[in-house]
Amino acid sequence: EMFGQLTSGLESAWSKLKGEEVLTKENIAEPMRDIRRALLEADVSLPVVRRFVQAVSDQAVGVGVIRGIVNDELVKLMGGEVSELTFAKSGPTVILLAGLQGVGKTTVCAKLANYLKKQGKTSMLVAGDVYRPAAIDQLVILGEQVKVPVYTAGTDTKPSEIARQGLAEAKKKNIDVVIMDTAGRLQIDKGMMDELKEVKRVLNPTEVLLVVDAMTGQEAAALVTTFNVEIGITGAILTKLDGDSRGGAALSVKEVSGKPIKLVGRGERMEDLEPFYPDRMAGRILGMGDVLSFVEKAQEVMKQEDAEDLQKKIMSAKFDFNDFLKQTRAVARMGSMTRVLGMIPGMGKVTPAQIREAEKSLKIMEAMIEVMTPEEKEKPELLAESSTRRKRVAQESGKTEQQVSQLVAQLFQMRVRMKNLMGVMEGGSIPALNN
Ligand code: GDP
Repeated sequence: EMFGQLTSGLESAWSKLKGEEVLTKENIAEPMRDIRRALLEADVSLPVVRRFVQAVSDQAVGVGVIRGIVNDELVKLMGGEVSELTFAKSGPTVILLAGLQGVGKTTVCAKLANYLKKQGKTSMLVAGDVYRPAAIDQLVILGEQVKVPVYTAGTDTKPSEIARQGLAEAKKKNIDVVIMDTAGRLQIDKGMMDELKEVKRVLNPTEVLLVVDAMTGQEAAALVTTFNVEIGITGAILTKLDGDSRGGAALSVKEVSGKPIKLVGRGERMEDLEPFYPDRMAGRILGMGDVLSFVEKAQEVMKQEDAEDLQKKIMSAKFDFNDFLKQTRAVARMGSMTRVLGMIPGMGKVTPAQIREAEKSLKIMEAMIEVMTPEEKEKPELLAESSTRRKRVAQESGKTEQQVSQLVAQLFQMRVRMKNLMGVMEGGSIPALNN
């Protein structure tokens, strides 16, 4: 699971503070050591860890809630606000993508076009990786997949010339965004940098984004710095966040390089690209799931009013069995169960091996909810209070009474978790020390 180790490392820090009313220099020392160790094990760069631990300690002494402070500092570390893509005021917006080989750059080109299409923008991909004919073919295939034109000029034309031609073509066709793919190398070399500088000079891009692989940890932050110094970039795209990356990249890039992560890739599908939200990422790291991203995913498959209704209900903790069912069905339709389940509070530790099991249990839940009366669905309290009702639901759905009790308990747990989480996301602090 993403950041799993970091999350449990931080958990162990909280658990040592259980029962401490006020934080002092003495009782905070050990948890701070745990936090430091957890961050280093997550491959966060050392200067970042030092600054972070210092900032948290400075604020924590005399205060009751260290977790809220850690949350706020994590958000700050990652840049605070979401950093949006910039678009040109007139003419096509040009996005130049750079990155080492294998980081997911070609995939990102097509994902980005697909992402922009959802915002109503047309785009064109330009194939500038002239050293690997396979890269051009791959871009053409991905372009077809997302139904976006791809400009190619073979492997005998210089990348800067391809860039010039591609841009002219896009202007002629009134395309909103030009996405330029460039050659990646196994490691940084002068030839690549010179070529990028030349392409950048020709294109005068609105965005120069470096694609980096989250699995490479703090090395990703170092790369962003180098590329920024060498060619000048506007931000980074962090790929492969769906894997068991340790968090070092997400936490170090901004602090080390001064450049924001603008987008993240969370899978191999064309839909798996989203903005980088520092607050949500902090929430994930602290093991609170990611309700907002979840609601957004749900929105894509639910009717608009259903989704808004769901969000309102989550906030007011009126979440009932109808919502539960709508949500689980939406989840089932979302395809990537692994990721979506990871977003639900309390389900963050789901491994791929447990997915089939989870799908099966969704079916069981559905069966039980379907035989509830409309009243019971709206007022889960009725089932909580009456074992006669639970027995009836068990009998009619062919499940055990214990399964029904579990489902009812789960709904109430979910209400509480979601309410707590929404409080945190609204900017409130967590009321008590975590236990
Ligand atoms: P390039 O050499 O930088 O152009 O890399 P590619 O776009 O060819 O991607 C390399 C591999 O990484 C491919 O198998 C992609 O499917 C995979 N990949 C790219 N982005 C992601 C991601 O966000 N998550 C996962 N799991 N795989 C990815």
